Amino acid sequence: MTDGIRAFEKAIANLSLKVHRPETIERFALYATELQKANAVMNLTAVDDTVGIFVRHFADSLSVFAAGAIQPESSVIDVGCGAGFPGLPLKIFADDQGIPMRLTLMDATGKKVAFLERLVGQLGLSDVSCATARAEEAGRKPEFREKFDVATSRAVARFSVLAELCFPFVKKGGVMAAIKSASVGEELAAAEKAIAALSGGKPELFAYQLLETEPDSRVVLVRKEKATPGEYPRTFAKIRKNPLENAPKGQVLQP
Ligand code: SAH
Repeated sequence: MTDGIRAFEKAIANLSLKVHRPETIERFALYATELQKANAVMNLTAVDDTVGIFVRHFADSLSVFAAGAIQPESSVIDVGCGAGFPGLPLKIFADDQGIPMRLTLMDATGKKVAFLERLVGQLGLSDVSCATARAEEAGRKPEFREKFDVATSRAVARFSVLAELCFPFVKKGGVMAAIKSASVGEELAAAEKAIAALSGGKPELFAYQLLETEPDSRVVLVRKEKATPGEYPRTFAKIRKNPLENAPKGQVLQP
């Protein structure tokens, strides 16, 4: 555990972040232990060594914090959170920094959400709710639609698809914050149409590298400028068949 904690502290120092309270490290240690225990009986994460969990899951999640996406009183939804990344480390860290934050962890897979529900109780966190749902269905429901200051996500879909899953949750003036690899430029170029259709502004990139041994990464921040048109999100079958980066079906191109 000590190696993991040391690597974590070094990695977050590279994000210009620092843990203030010893209880926070205890919370992350409990999270790592519970993740390893649960991962032995169900498939939650491919990265399951202690140092890997501390660096590639916990510290990497905090890149969203370092990018400035989390403000006091932010309501945050993590879309396709899996075992809680990046949302849960963000909440643990916000608590550490004395920053009030409300979190909704959403995933389509019930057993992952059940793991998180139990874990949130063990960690003694307040203002966290867990939802088993597909984002493209939840994003049409009044209780979720345009209710969040921040929709964050990591490793769920290509940006054009992810934008359609995330933007419906974001309030006007709020932000989508996605963790991506350094090669996100191509995805973003292909997603220009999606971002415009979903009422997003110009993407801003926050570049970071956790450790010398870790890859160069990005947080992509896109602000929502006005309400997302009611036709989005579409069903997943439609999103997949006709992602917003393609020319609309039936469009007649002028010679
Ligand atoms: N964000 C986590 C997990 C990534 S794996 C991490 O970075 O470690 C992708 C996760 O997204 C899976 O848990 C899967 O169940 C979930 N997912 C994929 N499509 C989804 C959708 N349309 N709605 C909700 N969850 C989805």
